[in-house]
Amino acid sequence: MTDPLELPKAGRRPRQTFELEETGFNEVPKRFRRFYRRWRGPGDKLGPNEALCPVCKVVIRSTKELRAGDRVYCMPCMSRLELVEEDGMLIAKVIY
Ligand SMILES: [Zn+2]
Repeated sequence: MTDPLELPKAGRRPRQTFELEETGFNEVPKRFRRFYRRWRGPGDKLGPNEALCPVCKVVIRSTKELRAGDRVYCMPCMSRLELVEEDGMLIAKVIY
């Protein structure tokens, strides 16, 4: 299991799935690279399967659509994050 998404909850509707392509992100071992990409700044638009790590500003990508309450792991900075909805946007928060 390499996907950063942990313990997906049974959803009310099935989650969309995504094909992840190589992103050139080279701060993690090769087989994990497609699960992360660099954030391109405030104009960068996150996909439904992406969340921004507030610690290292790397975009975490899952093969599944992400939802509020999901927990994801950021390998580059080893943070465990929980997604919360704020103003209609998914924000990742560090779990202490
Ligand atoms: Zn991080």
